[in-house]
Order: sequence, then C-alpha cells, then structure tokens
Amino acid sequence: MDSKTDLSELSIEKLQQLKQENLENKWNYHHLINDCDKMDKFYTYFIYKKCNHEWKRSNIYCGPYDSPPKICIKCGLAMDNYIRLPT
Ligand SMILES: [Zn+2]
Repeated sequence: MDSKTDLSELSIEKLQQLKQENLENKWNYHHLINDCDKMDKFYTYFIYKKCNHEWKRSNIYCGPYDSPPKICIKCGLAMDNYIRLPT
C-alpha cells in the first residue's frame, strides 16, 4: 500500500490489519539493522587483525585536547588498541 491511498476510506479492521503488518515490518527491519551492525563489527575486527597496517596521522580535527587518529592507508581503519570481537 502506498502513502497516496486514502486511509479514511478503509474499514477499522483493514486499518488494524495494516497497522499490525506495519509494526511487524518495523520490528523485522529493526532486527535486520541490528544484525547488520553486528556483522559490520565482525568484518571490521577481522580486517583489522589481518591487515599489515601502514599508519598515517589523519588530518581530521579532533578538538584542542585530542590528537588526530592514525589511519591505516591499506584498510582505512583507525588505530584501535582495544578492538575486540563483538559479543
Ligand atoms: Zn590496515
């Protein structure tokens, strides 16, 4: 159903059905995004561990009290001495 459909023409039962379907879609997408976020952390971890890094200081401005991060010119990841597998 597209957003141009006139919802005011639909019955309460149909609106309830559509509302429930929409809610289920919302939760499915929510779980899918969480799974993708977790897989992204796995990919990042293994890329980080496998790469023979060549660090270069980035020119990103981090504020007056922080130094810019070192970025690997091979894999593009920032130096992270605390990287670990997601739980
Ligand atoms: Zn690297």
